[in-house]
Amino acid sequence: MPVSICALCQSGDLVLALDLGFHPLADTFLKKEQLMDPEVRYPLQMLLCKNCGHAMSSYIVPPQKRYQENDYSYDSGNSKVSVEHFGEMAADISKRVGLQSGDLVVDIGSSVGTLLEAFRTNAGAAVLGVEPAYNIAEVALQNNVPTVNDFWGERAAAEVVQAGKAKVITSTNAFNHIGDLDSFMQTTLGALRDDGTFVFEVPYLLHLVELLAFDTIYLEHTSYFALRPLQQYFKKFGLVIVDVQENTYMGGTVRVSVTRGGTESPAVAACLAKEEAAKLFDEETYTTMMRKVQQFKFGLLQELLDAKKGGGVVIGIGAATKGNTLLNYCGIDTTLLDFITDASPRKVGKYTPGSHIPILPDEAITDAVTHALILPWNIGDFLKGKLGPKYPKLAFITPHMEQ
Ligand SMILES: [Zn+2]
Repeated sequence: MPVSICALCQSGDLVLALDLGFHPLADTFLKKEQLMDPEVRYPLQMLLCKNCGHAMSSYIVPPQKRYQENDYSYDSGNSKVSVEHFGEMAADISKRVGLQSGDLVVDIGSSVGTLLEAFRTNAGAAVLGVEPAYNIAEVALQNNVPTVNDFWGERAAAEVVQAGKAKVITSTNAFNHIGDLDSFMQTTLGALRDDGTFVFEVPYLLHLVELLAFDTIYLEHTSYFALRPLQQYFKKFGLVIVDVQENTYMGGTVRVSVTRGGTESPAVAACLAKEEAAKLFDEETYTTMMRKVQQFKFGLLQELLDAKKGGGVVIGIGAATKGNTLLNYCGIDTTLLDFITDASPRKVGKYTPGSHIPILPDEAITDAVTHALILPWNIGDFLKGKLGPKYPKLAFITPHMEQ
């Protein structure tokens, strides 16, 4: 469904900020038998609202297609980095809101329950997850984390209200996947105690622009949030952004805490000032960014072609979702990368969407392989540290986003 009005302020004054061409869903890795099927591609573009400055996708793929028609591959517990991040997040929020033992914490888009497990273990909280992907919710239940297998809506909220409403509602990398934000917020407020806090963590538009992280743009994301448009938006619900914390998780995210009433921390004003200084709401910022993204594509393709022309065997490391935007935007397929290695059993044996590159375990790397393109650049050092000593002859190619 093409987007014609701003998800936050309803203005129709939207301009095309970035255009990455047509892409399949980035988080849907394909099984072998699906390779012979036609693959649907959607426009992958970012629009900018000239009224409030909100950045959003130009096309919304129905959520059932995004999360329920295929096995969804994201698993919050599949890396040490994620588990540590969610542990820190639970500790930080518990302290911030003065969480008492037995208080209810609800996580929207709870994945396999990693964050909730940390709240339960460290703060003695009662927990409830809400997760739409069948295969992922099933793992959460096996992990003994109470989980409603549904989208965040009336049914899930009714369970929260029945349990006495939530002291904390969290949502990590999910608020930016929501098509109808008004309805999402109304449901959230109905399930949140009057003294409750809504904390969400999303990729930060400021980081996306500063790091040239165009590969964090994909169809599963409907919004690219900055603070200024959100601050305006929350006012209509009587909500105040009381705090904001930037962190480097997933290549640059922001954690936003929202309450009914309350006082803004100085961090909020500091972030707003940074957004203005970066000209985050100016069209020209994105014209410049698009030019840099094209330069990035030319540079990376040159590097890969040089390796191939020299008789090299090139593979990819890490079948990250963001890697799919990079591969499809740059037109990289099996003519350039023989295969991609990944540690997740949810991905090994499958193929990347669009580019159809096979995903194999690390053990598939032989002496014949000369170059490795690191796709999840945000954990590039970690991957180099893990694989470098094992494969000393391997030359790593790391995407240089900043130009
Ligand atoms: Zn707007």
